Amino acid sequence: MAENKKKIVLIGTGMVGMSFAYAALNQSLCDELVLIDLNEQRAHGEAMDLNHGLAFSNSSMKISCGTYQDCGDADIVVICAGVNQKPGESRLELLQRNEKVFASIVPNVVQNGFDGIFLVATNPVDIMTRITYELSGFNANKVIGTGTTLDTARLRYLLGEYFEVNPRNIHAYVIGEHGDSEFVPWSQVLLAVKPIKDVLKDNPQTYCMEELDKISCEVRNAAQEIIAAKGATYYGIGMAIVRIARAILSDEDTVLTVSTRLRGEYSGKKDVFIGNPAIINAGGAKRLLELKLTDEELEKLDNCCNILNENFNSLSLE
Ligand code: NAD
Repeated sequence: MAENKKKIVLIGTGMVGMSFAYAALNQSLCDELVLIDLNEQRAHGEAMDLNHGLAFSNSSMKISCGTYQDCGDADIVVICAGVNQKPGESRLELLQRNEKVFASIVPNVVQNGFDGIFLVATNPVDIMTRITYELSGFNANKVIGTGTTLDTARLRYLLGEYFEVNPRNIHAYVIGEHGDSEFVPWSQVLLAVKPIKDVLKDNPQTYCMEELDKISCEVRNAAQEIIAAKGATYYGIGMAIVRIARAILSDEDTVLTVSTRLRGEYSGKKDVFIGNPAIINAGGAKRLLELKLTDEELEKLDNCCNILNENFNSLSLE
């Protein structure tokens, strides 16, 4: 791509991929967007449909369906290809099927000269991001998963409602596996600069920990609730991908809870990819912020890492 023109290749033009593409068009995320899918006809139709909407947008984005050769000069390759959850199914149950999908995608992207940032949304996203890292041979900074970005947004929205404060003034993260073992480290939550534990202590008649626990449960179960109601989740994650991609393209140094590789943080945890606040810029995940967790929170993080490692180790990566 020419100097300062931004190009994204999207692989997987299903509900998540196209929610991302639609949000990207409406937010003028990049200069060029190329769509790739195993189902070429679908990618072709989606490109046509989006192009017909261009006239009504403020964007002059170049949108086309393409091939892996288009990855060579892309800034970001977004991967949303693969199977999604059926009602009651956990994200981890998708692993074997989506591993095969990635084995047919990642080497193709790399062989065509891609040297940008991989941004993975396919579930189970932490393990699929690790698989992308392994298959690509890229530096870990350049391989990011959506992690708990969306869960964190859901959490801040609900906490904003509970405390009747703009969610922008709530500093709170969901960390760990994007899945059933994810958790909120409450010791790290701030309302503006005031620790949430102090807010509870100072207002015992108004706020309580039980309600906060209900909120973290609601966040953890949100995807299943949406899947039970409408079959799949896609708009929220589509917009989360746009947010992460913008942080990369605009070299923002913004903190987002993406899935990145641990390199000895949290008492020597290594190799596993988990959702954790990280500074995102044009180079990908510049640095991970190691939080000062309580013993109980560290146990929860241990549990996440064990689950993710066990599942990853069950694969025989080709
Ligand atoms: P979908 O079935 O609507 O779309 C998947 C697309 O992938 C299809 O168009 C299919 O043709 C394509 N595909 C399959 N194999 C391919 C291959 N080898 N090469 C290229 N394309 C291929 O599914 P969806 O609802 O868009 O979900 C996609 C993924 O995103 C799922 O794994 C889902 O669980 C995940 N997801 C992640 C989050 C998150 O927070 N990270 C949220 C929602 C969904």
